[in-house]
Amino acid sequence: MEHTLAIIKPNAVKTGYTGRVLSRIEDFEFTMEAIRLLQLSTEDAEEFYAVHQQRPFFPSLIEFMSSGPIVPLVLQKTDAVTEFRKAIGATDPEEAGEGTIRRLYGESKERNTIHGSDSNENARIEIEFFFPGFFASI
Ligand code: ATP
Ligand code: MG
Repeated sequence: MEHTLAIIKPNAVKTGYTGRVLSRIEDFEFTMEAIRLLQLSTEDAEEFYAVHQQRPFFPSLIEFMSSGPIVPLVLQKTDAVTEFRKAIGATDPEEAGEGTIRRLYGESKERNTIHGSDSNENARIEIEFFFPGFFASI
């Protein structure tokens, strides 16, 4: 699988870090294949994060992810899912490695600036969520 889904989260778009995050993504030599700017409804966010429904942080996560515009992206690179998870770092920016996107631009464990798909199967589902027909068009 050569594709993964990234999302620049509302905190980063709001504070004017979109360009810097995109630049860092390019530093890691990912190619941008698709990009959008949109705001999720509560229902959309609940669907996207359905796997976390039972977690204590779920209500706050849904409110956060639907609180403002986000920038979903399809990224291409060999081994894209694994490589992008390395580029973004651990969920908590304080635990993320030097130079990773979350370490550089994350604000907190929740407001951690960027999402990356965690498996090839989820990448495919998440890409089709934001870019319907993507795989049919390539
Ligand atoms: P993502 O799926 O956004 O790439 P992740 O795979 O590193 O992040 P998940 O466990 O899938 O982490 O959690 C999804 C998102 O939920 C996190 O990115 C973060 O925004 C939020 N989150 C996760 N754990 C916590 C927590 N303990 N407290 C607050 N928010 C959390
Ligand atoms: Mg995840």
